[in-house]
Amino acid sequence: MVILGAGESGTGAAVLGAAQNWDVFVSDYGKIAPKYQDELNLHNIAWEQEKHTEEKILNADCIIKSPGIPDKAPIVKSAKAQGIEIIDELEFAYRYTTAKMIGITGTNGKTTTTLLTYHLLKQAGLNVGLAGNIGRSLARQVAQQSYDIYVVEISSFQLDYLDKFTCEIAILCNITPDHLDRYNYRIENYADSKMRIARNQTPEQHFIYCADNELTLEAMARNPFAGRPVPFSLTQTCTEGAYVQGSQIHIHSKEKFTLDMQEFTLRGQHNAYNSMAASIAASLMDVRKESIRESFGNFQNAEHRLEFVQKVGGVDYINDSKATNVNSAWYALESMDRPVIWIAGGIDKGNNYADLKPLVKGKVKMIVCLGLDNIKLHQAFQSDVDLIINTGSAKEAVHVASRMAEAGDAVLLSPACASFDLFDSYEDRGRQFKEAVRNL
Ligand code: ADP
Repeated sequence: MVILGAGESGTGAAVLGAAQNWDVFVSDYGKIAPKYQDELNLHNIAWEQEKHTEEKILNADCIIKSPGIPDKAPIVKSAKAQGIEIIDELEFAYRYTTAKMIGITGTNGKTTTTLLTYHLLKQAGLNVGLAGNIGRSLARQVAQQSYDIYVVEISSFQLDYLDKFTCEIAILCNITPDHLDRYNYRIENYADSKMRIARNQTPEQHFIYCADNELTLEAMARNPFAGRPVPFSLTQTCTEGAYVQGSQIHIHSKEKFTLDMQEFTLRGQHNAYNSMAASIAASLMDVRKESIRESFGNFQNAEHRLEFVQKVGGVDYINDSKATNVNSAWYALESMDRPVIWIAGGIDKGNNYADLKPLVKGKVKMIVCLGLDNIKLHQAFQSDVDLIINTGSAKEAVHVASRMAEAGDAVLLSPACASFDLFDSYEDRGRQFKEAVRNL
């Protein structure tokens, strides 16, 4: 067996492969992080870095491909041409466990919904693990732990390489345009890939989806599945699923109950969606309503997602660096209840800013661009705000924003763009922003 890519998922797969007595060889075209090198050595697993030795790789019975390696990578093309089975680490792990899977995918909200679902189950005392795109690899945990349930965040790149994997409960948060470069610029391809999460479901299993999201409804119509569909919505009521009236979330699942969003630590419409999805899943896993209510009160979301940093001179500073596409920035702006100085920009992935214009017109006092090339932001919003200023570092952006902000305003970093022009990653961008705020 050959594993391509030795990050968290690849190394986890190697550990499980070795534990299951496979002859494992790990190959990474880049450098392997020292901690993963150590782990591979500890398990006597053969590996190479900064190259792919074709003779070894194309001899494999089975290849486990890291989701970061694109289909068009030459080694993947050659393996496909030879008919070698290529699977994802999740698929491999699934073959060695009987634990129930709760799988969560979608364009935006995966991590929040995954962490929230995990929190609701864990607080209820269930023996549950957290895996997939966040935290530790599923394969590693299957090798080393004995959880009854896993809550797994699944990206579309992983879904493309699943075969038998199925989820007791699948959650599709939403589908909006993103990553189209990997799907021949066809939104249908990307949407169909998301629907793979439901493909193997049986009628006793559940598929939780957003009934307000057109692209999801279209994808469901194109890709029939056997699982029981359970909707959540902000705009319509339903007899099974979840909906919102005022500040109350109504859940109609194993139990019928309401949750008051005003008591939540999570803010914004997008988090109402995420909360509905996670609550339905928890209820289906027999978590009692009292427990779900209590857990919402003490949920701590991950860094860089509408993260409140600090109040300085009456101004709220908010870090939403993870908003790397237009849709996530839309929800961030929508959730603001005070005048906003909006820090945006970076690498534009073919963004269409039209949807943001009404929100920007209504809420944004000024835009601080944080990117190398900000021309599209200027063009999109010059008629909606009085002032658009270019900056070249998080520190500069925070300084400019702080000089223009008045007590009662919010300074929001929600870039709608990737970070790689000026930063290592969205995490790096968010941390530099927070540091600059703390130094004000
Ligand atoms: P993912 O793991 O899918 O990238 P995250 O939970 O990390 O999702 O959130 C990514 C960004 O999208 C954050 O800026 C967050 O505020 C925003 N977001 C979270 N949930 C949703 C949602 N349901 N719809 C749209 N945007 C969302």
